[in-house]
Amino acid sequence: MSAALQAIRGMNDVLPDDMALWRSFGAIVEAWLERCGYRAIRMPLVENTALFRRAIGEATDIVEKEMYSWRDELNAEELTLRPEGTASCVRAAIEHSLIYDGPKRLWYGGPMYRHERPQKGRYREFYQYGAEAFGYAGPDVDAELIVMCARLWPELGLQGIRLELNTIGSAEERARHRTDLVKYLEANEAKLDADAKRRLHTNPLRVLDSKTPMVQEVVAKAPLLMAYLGADSLAHFEGLKKLLSAAGVEFTLNARLVRGLDYYNLTVFEWISDALGAQGTVCGGGRYDGLFAQLGGKSTPGVGFAMGCERLVALMKDSGKAPAARKPDAYVVHQGEGALEVAFTLADALRSAGHAVVLNAGGGSFKSQMKKADASGATLALIVGEDEVRAGEISVKALRSTGEQRRIGRQSMIEEFAATLQRIKA
Ligand code: ATP
Ligand code: MG
Repeated sequence: MSAALQAIRGMNDVLPDDMALWRSFGAIVEAWLERCGYRAIRMPLVENTALFRRAIGEATDIVEKEMYSWRDELNAEELTLRPEGTASCVRAAIEHSLIYDGPKRLWYGGPMYRHERPQKGRYREFYQYGAEAFGYAGPDVDAELIVMCARLWPELGLQGIRLELNTIGSAEERARHRTDLVKYLEANEAKLDADAKRRLHTNPLRVLDSKTPMVQEVVAKAPLLMAYLGADSLAHFEGLKKLLSAAGVEFTLNARLVRGLDYYNLTVFEWISDALGAQGTVCGGGRYDGLFAQLGGKSTPGVGFAMGCERLVALMKDSGKAPAARKPDAYVVHQGEGALEVAFTLADALRSAGHAVVLNAGGGSFKSQMKKADASGATLALIVGEDEVRAGEISVKALRSTGEQRRIGRQSMIEEFAATLQRIKA
């Protein structure tokens, strides 16, 4: 026997028990996105590597070390498994002129790939739902996206997810801040770790979210970007905060929040749960007004968020309010001459009529089939034995309640089945 193969490290199978929770999570999120006026879009899992290099930025964790990239020799192309959805979504909007007739609100969901060290809440294949609004410049849509999340959490049965908010201004404002920040960090270079020293010249803003205590000490006294913001940036931020307050959505200002991707400007935010340990951010987003132009499109404002499904599903699971899987309405037991054909047709007809029906497969004695019927959680057992076949009838037995058993004729079977089910469920 050859050795059994295993899934790739950091890439997970989701087994049927957990899939019930995942599917109900997905149904809630998708219905909510549609209700808020966002329309579904689907992009490929594979894109040109250049897309992510240009969109996310060379000096980011993702582009530096997390991308699954390879050269496709057949077409001589550099390709990458998408690490996130925004870049593809903007690429698609440009490619298909999606916003030629006005702004668009879009959502997508699916797997993303990042070569990170796997740990709880951090995987190499993970799922995101993302929402993006293209063509809206004002803070109202930033507020809309944030308030939408605030309303989603309780719908998922989740509490204690808090909002951190910041504004990182415009590219020019960041450039002026950057000059002073680099000067300050250079003056304190002795206290920086290797990562921070490297970033000092490639992406100094990222030094601000260093997790090394000594670096954090330096960072605490660094010049704050907020002090470099002009009237327009401040007005955008004030407009956003006003709408959040009007909606009763609380937030903490976090001047150190810069997010790991280069394309953001003005609004950035994260939703964080303290119940998940180190991997507590369940949703992150912000504004990216320069991204369309950066990817060769007409300059168009954009704002959006992406939520990490594994982390949210884990919270739902821990909340203990995870929804139960749908149990079958009926389990069909059959035995004897001609019974399989009758049972097969019966299950088929009931399924077509909208019922959830499991047909016993693999044989077994009457007793063992009834055991399986019971274990399936079905409301009713439908029994087709030689007797029933001869009489042109079916026996119906209630499994969960009274234990009543009676015969129904095969002609009126669908109506009688529906009536029995209704009576027993009532
Ligand atoms: P982190 O700081 O945790 O690495 P990030 O800033 O890289 O997060 P984003 O790119 O903003 O994450 O992605 C949005 C959300 O997707 C995150 O808030 C998180 O919930 C989820 N996420 C990101 N990376 C992973 C991963 N490797 N495994 C599981 N979920 C992830
Ligand atoms: Mg990351």
